[in-house]
Amino acid sequence: MQKDLSDWIRPEIKKLAAYHVADADGFIKLDAMENPYELPPALKQALLQRLASASLNRYPDPTAKILTEALSKQMDIPQGKSVVLGNGSDELIQMLVMAVAQPGTCLLSFEPSFVMYRMIAEFVGVQYVGVPLTTDFNLDMEVTCEAIKKHQPAIIFIAYPNNPSANLFNATNIEEIIRLAPGLVIVDEAYHPFAQTSFMSKLTEFDNLLILRTVSKMGLAGIRLGLLCGLPRIINEIDKIRLPYNINILTQTAALYVLENITILEQQASQIRQQRARVYTAMQAISALEVFPSQANFILFRVFNKAADDVFESIKRAGVLIKNMKAEQGTLKHCLRVTIGTAEENDVFLAALKVAVI
Ligand code: PMP
Repeated sequence: MQKDLSDWIRPEIKKLAAYHVADADGFIKLDAMENPYELPPALKQALLQRLASASLNRYPDPTAKILTEALSKQMDIPQGKSVVLGNGSDELIQMLVMAVAQPGTCLLSFEPSFVMYRMIAEFVGVQYVGVPLTTDFNLDMEVTCEAIKKHQPAIIFIAYPNNPSANLFNATNIEEIIRLAPGLVIVDEAYHPFAQTSFMSKLTEFDNLLILRTVSKMGLAGIRLGLLCGLPRIINEIDKIRLPYNINILTQTAALYVLENITILEQQASQIRQQRARVYTAMQAISALEVFPSQANFILFRVFNKAADDVFESIKRAGVLIKNMKAEQGTLKHCLRVTIGTAEENDVFLAALKVAVI
């Protein structure tokens, strides 16, 4: 019998649900951990001139050498470590998983954490082990150590701070995991500008540690640029999987220009941290909520007296899009996640939230 066309697609891909991105048109967008501030008009204007000088008819520098050097300096990457750039840190996660994928290989991360670790494992056809966090979203070291010993994962992904819970795991526990891990440990520091703590300096201590960063949350989500750094002989292997010219010329040019003016993004991150404190305090004053502490640019909270779906829809009707974690049970039961916006956006959100939970 003839195959249906879709039968050529691997069954595990057919079973997957596509990564859903909500339509945010016309909404105050507090669903995707973006920086709410644009570049100031004068900087934007100067950036446009730089972009105009880029030769769009030529392929970009395949290794993005100048940009890599600028990023290494800005992010305090220790001497002697190597860097590979990705089209967003998502792409680097994909490269890492592709590099280790073979029958019997397993990846380990935590539940709940960044969904792409699990999804990419599924795309590539590698076993994924999700070790449950405690009810307050911390590492359960007994269960974690047991899982590492049992499954011998090729890669352990640790989001630091974690998404969606926004907390930093205990650093001593993470070091214990790095020591115990038979393979690579990726500390994913996507939210570094808001946590202001890092494992970057630990690269000199641990050969199996790799640090993942992105410019997305700093304020450049639109240009898609992430970086992975660590031991040169590991980074060199990952680099073989990278598609040629994965960092396009507009991204290279824009990122370089913004790095030269990095104080503006640092000021924006500081404003976001201040707003986070204000939003957190205001949310804590609402008795119908459980609000989890945040070291990132978003806050996870649980609603008690209303269905999370209804609260989400009510806030949406007020013009604000947040993220519904859609969990009826487990650690994320009845939880929603809001990204910190501008002071005005946060005011609209807080007012809508109060109405939604009353
Ligand atoms: N890591 C974590 C923990 C994230 O939450 C995200 C995005 N939500 C990413 C990586 C991916 O970021 P990007 O691909 O934009 O660099």
